[in-house]
Amino acid sequence: MKKELDNICEECKKEDESVSQNLIMHGYKICDSCKISKTIFPV
Ligand SMILES: [Zn+2]
Repeated sequence: MKKELDNICEECKKEDESVSQNLIMHGYKICDSCKISKTIFPV
């Protein structure tokens, strides 16, 4: 078994629990801060 959900952001290489959530929800393996800087979401 390979461990794929390691919570490491592909943008900043930091570990954050938001990474796996963003991977599931948006398909991007990035943390919240990178998600905001990369994509504009209307709040
Ligand atoms: Zn990041």
